[in-house]
Amino acid sequence: MINLNTLNLSIIIPLLNEEESLEELFGRIERVCSSENLSYEIWFVDDGSTDLSWSIIENLKIENPQVHAIRFSRNYGKSQALHAAFARANGEVIITMDADLQDFPEEIPELYAMVVNGDYDIVSGWKKKRFDNVMTKNLPSKLFNSAARKVSGVDLHDFNCGLKAYKKQVVKSIDVYGDMHRYIPVLAANAGFRRITEKEVKHQARPYGTSKFGTERFIRGFLDLVTLWFVSRFGGRPMHFFGAVGTLMFIIGFFAALGLGISKLIAVSKGVYGHLITDNPWFFISLTMMLMGTLLFIAGFLGEMIIRSNREHKNYTIDEII
Ligand code: UDP
Ligand code: MG
Repeated sequence: MINLNTLNLSIIIPLLNEEESLEELFGRIERVCSSENLSYEIWFVDDGSTDLSWSIIENLKIENPQVHAIRFSRNYGKSQALHAAFARANGEVIITMDADLQDFPEEIPELYAMVVNGDYDIVSGWKKKRFDNVMTKNLPSKLFNSAARKVSGVDLHDFNCGLKAYKKQVVKSIDVYGDMHRYIPVLAANAGFRRITEKEVKHQARPYGTSKFGTERFIRGFLDLVTLWFVSRFGGRPMHFFGAVGTLMFIIGFFAALGLGISKLIAVSKGVYGHLITDNPWFFISLTMMLMGTLLFIAGFLGEMIIRSNREHKNYTIDEII
């Protein structure tokens, strides 16, 4: 439920060495929010910048009480930056955007209106017309997005768009760790927030500086997607995965070994000696199968124990308390 008497908006801006953009960015946010009568606060998160970004933010803060900022001691990554600001944001709607001016602050009012009027949990930006390098960004990101859609069932074109709007309770309920900023809508969907939609947003080439993510983004993005898939399917019940695969492998190994033993006995009973069980490749296969099966079973068991001992950690989402 959105209460219109409180602070409308928290605008969260993670940044790493974006000194050229900050003043213009702030000016445009200020202009568009005051012309639409939106009350807002800004949370800059300086993710270990080594340029003048922080002192520019300090200067903005002097004249503008709605500016808040967090400065990390070193570069922890965009996910951590979002995490820190999500915990502190007070607005009824939270908007995240990149600091590099690739996203347009002028989109803010409409994103806000969609969350409030459409009662959406998340309105995610979609850079339909994208101004990045085709080979290093646009194509790979198409692949990623379609994989993420398949894995998560969340129907978005552009999971990783920096410009997104959230209902406050969404950002308070999810835990953005690792490099999971790419998949926040999936985290939210896993936490039970299913009213997710997208809005086409304008995008432009980076006017200043360079991209802060290199090619390692693909490897990390892929691994995080695998983690997400696994955690969302089996995270609450690891035994169902490891136990099932482990038991299956053990049974195959066991019967293979049994067959070997029986054929040896039959051979001996017929008076045929000299063939060693270890000459048969199935001996090694069955041995490995039984070993791996046992190990997987133990992994599942340990997983269950870990979950049990972490029970006090919140893993449910409350809709309303009256
Ligand atoms: N960023 C950050 N920490 C990092 C890397 C990036 O806070 O470790 C910020 C960056 O300053 C920008 C936003 O995250 O505001 C998106 O980064 P970038 O524009 O480099 O990503 P791209 O648009 O190339 O995907
Ligand atoms: Mg960018």
